[in-house]
Amino acid sequence: MVFAISWTLVAMFMSFQYHREKEFKERILAIEMKNYNLQLVEALDDGLTIKEAITEIQPPLAGIRVSVIEPDGSVSFDNNDATPFPKDNHNNRPEVIQARHIGYGKSESRYSANDDEYYFFSAVLAPGEKVVRSGAPYDNSLNELLRADRSFLWVMGGVTILMSFLAYFMTWRISGTIKRLNSFAAKAENGEPIDGEEKFSNDELGAIARHIVRIYVQRDRQHKEAMMARDDRDRLEKELTDNINHELKTPVASMLICLDLLRDHPDLPAERRNEFLQRIDTSARRLSSLLQDVSAITRMDGGAATIAKTDIDLRELIESVASDCALHTDIKIRLDLPERLHIEGNRQYLESIFRNLIDNAIAYSGASEITVAGTAAGYFSVSDNGAGIPEEHLPHIFERFYRVDKGRSRAQGGTGLGLAIVSTAVKLHQGEITVENDNGLIFRFNLGPILS
Ligand code: ADP
Repeated sequence: MVFAISWTLVAMFMSFQYHREKEFKERILAIEMKNYNLQLVEALDDGLTIKEAITEIQPPLAGIRVSVIEPDGSVSFDNNDATPFPKDNHNNRPEVIQARHIGYGKSESRYSANDDEYYFFSAVLAPGEKVVRSGAPYDNSLNELLRADRSFLWVMGGVTILMSFLAYFMTWRISGTIKRLNSFAAKAENGEPIDGEEKFSNDELGAIARHIVRIYVQRDRQHKEAMMARDDRDRLEKELTDNINHELKTPVASMLICLDLLRDHPDLPAERRNEFLQRIDTSARRLSSLLQDVSAITRMDGGAATIAKTDIDLRELIESVASDCALHTDIKIRLDLPERLHIEGNRQYLESIFRNLIDNAIAYSGASEITVAGTAAGYFSVSDNGAGIPEEHLPHIFERFYRVDKGRSRAQGGTGLGLAIVSTAVKLHQGEITVENDNGLIFRFNLGPILS
């Protein structure tokens, strides 16, 4: 359709151009003939006879027939005696009528009704009411002269064919890209997998298409990751709630039983009463530390944006935590820290990292020595020379409520949240934590940003 319109337009333009050029050549011929006539008239004015004037003045074309028409319309001179003009009144001929009227006239006509030969006549008024007329016969040479230059048509035709091929090729490429883009859109709409390897042409449209697909694939991946993260969060929250319920049940039930016994048996011996009161005290403390840990972990879940950080003297903080922990044990706590160690961090979370790790080593390792080491670049380790833990537990010990030995942990007042808190607090200080058995258990982690 587009090609048909283009070709029609080109054909119209070519024919218009062809006729314009022909018209232009005819006009030039008319001007030259008129000039020739005027030169003849001027020569007559100068006293030359028409014969002398014809031999003197160069005609614009060979074979021009010159005639002089008298005021009465008769032909007094004709340089072609072989085929004389008919004897009728030449004043009735269109070129002569015009010349008499406005001084100049032209016409394309035959010189007699029964003659086939066509002439291009040009006439001008001469002194003495005569008319000088010259006629160029429409023979082959004049036709050739008037014919528009056809090479132009060939060039135009060739260029149009070439352009059509080029346009066809471009359209074919563009429509290929659009088809592929369309099938990509259909896949995206139906939720079918898109690998981002769609083949598009190496032009601007292809580049745009590739860009669109890339953006889509990237957004799609981000969306899926966000969904997975949300699912993970939901799962963790559910686990946390389930575990909290479970962890609350035992101490609450124990407290209720003890309280019932105390209320129902007011006459219990003092020794038994103290025993029940002691159990209530232990359960209440367990509840309290459970609530503290749960609140710490839920606050941390809020993320790094919500925690306030200041310049912390980490050496002083570790020394203070270690001496606190040492109050409840005979195990030796050794520190190996640089002189100056300042960090931009949150005091409460940093304390909970070192307190939990040292307390755990005291509670579970059975070690005789615990070492806390650090470097000025912010790399730390907390290790003990105890029994370590079976390898299969290592990948899980940072999970919430994961305990290696449940009974022992509970007996120690553990909540199963200590190492989860440690790992989250390390992450909130741009760090990572790992654990391995190495003549006891060793936790390695880094913290930042270091200020000194
Ligand atoms: P809990 O509240 O039980 O202390 P944690 O998350 O702090 O919970 O610790 C998880 C488990 O890892 C503990 O129950 C304990 O069995 C084990 N654990 C932690 N630190 C050590 C250690 N230094 N030596 C041996 N076992 C450890």
